[in-house]
Amino acid sequence: MTAGKLRVIIVGGAITGCTLAAALQDVASEIVVLERNPSAKAMDLEQGGAGLALLQSSNAILRSDLLLPQGIKGSDVRSARHEGEGNVMRILSWTTGQVGMSIPSPGETRTVHRKTLTKALYEIAIASKAPVTFKWGKTAARIDTTKGIVETTDGEVLEADLIVGADGVRSCVRTAILEASGLPVASSVPLGVSCARWSLRDDEVPEKTRECLRLPSDKSQGYGNTTFHCDSQRLVTYRMRDDGLLNSILYFYDSFVPPSLATQDRPSATSWRQAGSTALLKKLIDESNPAEPLAQLLAAPQQVGLWQLRKYVPLPTWSHGNAVLLGDAAHPMAPFQASGSSQAIEDVEAFVHALVASRKDGEPLSKALDDFYKLRFLRASIVQAISDRTPFPQDLLQQSQKQSQEKAPPVPDEARNHPSYREAAERVEEAMKSHSIDLCSPTVARFAMVYPGVKRFVEDYPKLVLGSTPRL
Ligand SMILES: Cc1cc2nc3c(=O)[nH]c(=O)nc-3n(C[C@H](O)[C@H](O)[C@H](O)COP(=O)(O)OP(=O)(O)OC[C@H]3O[C@@H](n4cnc5c(N)ncnc54)[C@H](O)[C@@H]3O)c2cc1C
Repeated sequence: MTAGKLRVIIVGGAITGCTLAAALQDVASEIVVLERNPSAKAMDLEQGGAGLALLQSSNAILRSDLLLPQGIKGSDVRSARHEGEGNVMRILSWTTGQVGMSIPSPGETRTVHRKTLTKALYEIAIASKAPVTFKWGKTAARIDTTKGIVETTDGEVLEADLIVGADGVRSCVRTAILEASGLPVASSVPLGVSCARWSLRDDEVPEKTRECLRLPSDKSQGYGNTTFHCDSQRLVTYRMRDDGLLNSILYFYDSFVPPSLATQDRPSATSWRQAGSTALLKKLIDESNPAEPLAQLLAAPQQVGLWQLRKYVPLPTWSHGNAVLLGDAAHPMAPFQASGSSQAIEDVEAFVHALVASRKDGEPLSKALDDFYKLRFLRASIVQAISDRTPFPQDLLQQSQKQSQEKAPPVPDEARNHPSYREAAERVEEAMKSHSIDLCSPTVARFAMVYPGVKRFVEDYPKLVLGSTPRL
């Protein structure tokens, strides 16, 4: 360690990894980011067509002096801001295209291309005063959490005072931390719903769709996002990249996928860069009687990315020895509250806060890691729990879930019955029942009126305060 500063290895160079690399400069003497993608360009391909909604909390953090020198403004990442007069979220009927509900966009919501955001964060990170090295094409394979050692698949051995797992849903750092803590590694189970994602350039958006989505050429007319909804599927669209791209995410039951579809065209839990076939979209056009503007939108893409959504349990710990988890590695969540990145960015703020405080007071690293878990566990886990609530009717969802689980039976999961996991789950359950915890998504309260899963959640936990976006 140099003058109290830490040598840090970050495993994973996406949103969590880049935000942290940019934010650690006052506490790190050197930062090495290991990213398994072979280059920044390959990373772009992996993230192609993927939009993100950034909520109020993460927008405030990105603008703050956590990310020196000046933070990131919406215009830096060419985000669309859904706020102000005329900016509404609309829910349209799947079959008629008629507006069922129209609500003002919540707080300061921005939609951004994840590639643009990651690039902006990366540029701040490499300009930081602590030397930051990105090692591309490096996959962490083994982690010694006690000695602070990371070994990559090509045999390189690196040592640090702090190892951060920013390696997403299938984190290898998470496995190392749980095993070193003597805890079983929890598996995930299918949620029963998959999604298909694609984006279209502005000039590729069919005319009828454009009219229906009210895509104005004059931005001052305002634009929010539009959802086409029915009990079997749901499609969310919004603009990003200075309105040059229209992002679409379609959610459907796993059971909708025809058995005849080739394996590579099926949603998988392991990759969302999969260039899936559009056969699923064609089937939807034929079978679900979509309104004409929606049918045109479903017919437009040449390829889609596919992703099976899974359910994850809260972890009893996020750290062991010199290693800690942030972002999806700590609390993977389904996208129904559009909260994953905002929670990851909140993690970074809380983690840096805990680290700076402990360095100042001359306390051991373990104190910062414990404080970070205390600061973040309940909030992130509650958002994780509510993000699992789909907008679909419970009976249809359960049917689909059952089929998915029968097809790929989950590994027997000793974690769910382990006392530490049970205790973590009970803490979350208890907090939701008895405390006032502000959730990050003000949309929840409004959507509760129309979406059965969310409505039940709000009824089950009436003491949760919905609607504001607290930070540290
Ligand atoms: C369909 C969908 C829609 C979503 N929509 C939204 C939304 O609107 N708003 C929102 O906030 N969130 C959304 N999310 C969630 C959001 O994508 C995640 O929360 C966010 O990307 C988490 O970032 P991360 O950096 O923690 O993990 P990731 O983005 O998963 O990044 C992990 C990185 O680690 C690298 N890596 C993994 N293993 C290794 C290894 N062993 N060695 C080296 N590198 C490794 C990977 O290549 C990757 O670059 C959505 C998610 C999905 C699936």
